[in-house]
Amino acid sequence: MSTPSANPSLERLRTPVQYLKGVGPHRAEKLARLNIFTALDLLFFFPRDYQDVRDVIPIAQLVEDEPASIIGIVEEVTLRNTGPGRSILGVLIRSDDQYLRAVWFNQPFLRRRFNEGTRVLLSGKPTMNGLRWEMAHPIADVLEEAQEEIGGKILPIYPLTEGIRQGAMRRLVHLTVEEYRKEIEEVLPQSFLDEHGLMPVHHAIQQIHSPDDHESKAAAQRRFIYQELLVLQLALAVRRYQLTASRHSLPIPIDGRIDDRIRRLIPFELTEAQNQAVAEVTQDLARDVPMNRMLQGDVGSGKTIVALYAMLAAVAAGSQAAMMAPTEVLARQHARTLGKLLAQAQVKVGLLTGTLTDRQRRELLAEVASGEVQLLIGTQAMIASQIEFKQLGLVVIDEQHKFGVRQRGLLRSAGLDPHYLVMTATPIPRTIAMSLFGDLDVSSIREAPPGRQPVHTYIGAEEEREKWWEFFRKKLREGRQGYVVAPLVDESSTGDSASAEQLMESLSNGELEEFRLRLLHGRMSAEEKEETMRLFNDGEIQTLVSTSVIEVGVDVPNAVVMTIEGGERFGLAQLHQLRGRISRGSHAGFLCIFADPKSDQSRERLEALAKSTDGFELAELDFRLRGPGDLFGFKQHGMPPLRIADLQRDAELLEKARTDARSIIAADPALADAKWEKLRRMVFIRYGKSLEIGDLA
Ligand code: ADP
Ligand code: MG
Repeated sequence: MSTPSANPSLERLRTPVQYLKGVGPHRAEKLARLNIFTALDLLFFFPRDYQDVRDVIPIAQLVEDEPASIIGIVEEVTLRNTGPGRSILGVLIRSDDQYLRAVWFNQPFLRRRFNEGTRVLLSGKPTMNGLRWEMAHPIADVLEEAQEEIGGKILPIYPLTEGIRQGAMRRLVHLTVEEYRKEIEEVLPQSFLDEHGLMPVHHAIQQIHSPDDHESKAAAQRRFIYQELLVLQLALAVRRYQLTASRHSLPIPIDGRIDDRIRRLIPFELTEAQNQAVAEVTQDLARDVPMNRMLQGDVGSGKTIVALYAMLAAVAAGSQAAMMAPTEVLARQHARTLGKLLAQAQVKVGLLTGTLTDRQRRELLAEVASGEVQLLIGTQAMIASQIEFKQLGLVVIDEQHKFGVRQRGLLRSAGLDPHYLVMTATPIPRTIAMSLFGDLDVSSIREAPPGRQPVHTYIGAEEEREKWWEFFRKKLREGRQGYVVAPLVDESSTGDSASAEQLMESLSNGELEEFRLRLLHGRMSAEEKEETMRLFNDGEIQTLVSTSVIEVGVDVPNAVVMTIEGGERFGLAQLHQLRGRISRGSHAGFLCIFADPKSDQSRERLEALAKSTDGFELAELDFRLRGPGDLFGFKQHGMPPLRIADLQRDAELLEKARTDARSIIAADPALADAKWEKLRRMVFIRYGKSLEIGDLA
């Protein structure tokens, strides 16, 4: 930033690290790898953990399974390879003729940290192994000469990078805190700190880096975690305000007569969950501010009918409705469903996709502009088409997670804003939904329509392969269809496509030789994919050999068997989505996952999948298994990652931050009051762009 700042404190905080005492250009380069460029970055470079050296005890006083810290000298270091990618690092520590062995599995790189003769501090859970104490994966800290007197302290443990040691990092942060902490602005008004029991920033920054005791450490952390979540929630609340309360739309009121007319068109009874979702949607629609709602429900839970209900309500109120789907196949499917429902009704449906001729498109757009077409279904081609509606009352986005980044305001008619309904089949854990989609109101469908057949899920052992393929072939011979999913290779579609190609090669010359197979992967052209999906839909192809990108939403009820290879590489939510492909019809589904679960975590994932078919339950579990620090979805949504808050661990603070943010914004939608000025800057600097809430005004 080259704009001169009127704020000398801020200028000082922006001092590049290389000018700090003891840094210089060489070390500055290394710090840059940790995203530390200025004094300010260092102040907010928080410890990832702490080591309490106040309870260091002699080895002789250790008690089985009771966490403790010890100090000793490294006697001997051994690194054994125990298989591909597997190793055991053992470090023997001596203190007063007592010995303890620290072990690390599969972390050979740690070896470099331990030299014979160095003094180390270890914290962990001791277990007695034979005659000697052992600690598996303890927190380890190499003590330097300068740190001789460590009595009575809780030491911070920072994330490190090659070439910077813990001791050096501690000293650097410590000096920076001493010298610069007074320059930090308190962004929260004093009254707010008091009311919410938050530690003031100068004290908190000091306590988070070198705490006096556990209580003040926790209070300091709480302050920064809460602040980070509050800033996020304020941004979302501002966005929510900007998209709803400050806009106007045409109210779409639904009375008993209209409700009855719509329901008569639907060939089945709505489930309780669907009725609940319809009630939430219709309440929003009746208002003169736009609805901004997400409808989430597992694959096959019956979201479409809720959307169609809303679209028909819009038509009944004299306006138009549009629905956008991520693929042409899906758009056509929706148009077909609507066509069937509306066979007796006087409603005109248009279908806009990329494959229309110019002339067809012109005609369709003219009919949309005149209002003749009341319901428009389409793909992303709708966005490119600059459609003019006569009176657009409602926009539905299906499978919104497939569109990636938030896009809205793309379909808009002059004057009033349409109501918005976005649908997603990826169940989202509550805390994630509150953070990534906190600007949306959420409706969830958790029960499946009646009559669904279960999917049987097996975790296949290698020696059962032949038996499983025999079963797979039997199903195909009975006239059913199947999927085979290739292992994930990496994040690039290139690697995955190659792995699917390989699998195709071996199946068509082996296990599935006698059947009609076809390949589907992300690197094929759109036409090839559409063609393949159509053939599969029509039953011309018996088995699809595919990457994990089996097209969303496609409903081929006749497909009932699925093999997943390399199951340990998939996330739980992803496996569940894949399984969703074979739970759509009146036949029971059968899934076999072959996997080499290297970690306990992936074994746990697979077992959970075999046990539960509830997508929400699995999503929560997946989220928990990923552990703290996982940035689930933030990057994908173009949002800056959280630095200190952890959505699982801090779920309670998140709720609080959300409630507080919403009440602040309700009273002062633009954070215009002078007392919010600094906080407002922070909100807009951090989220102005990613959440499209505007630049700092
Ligand atoms: P998704 O939530 O994945 O979009 P769909 O809306 O496509 O699910 O619904 C899946 C199938 O369930 C469709 O064939 C639909 O007709 C059927 N369905 C939806 N709701 C009900 C219901 N209440 N009773 C019976 N069948 C239903
Ligand atoms: Mg759907």
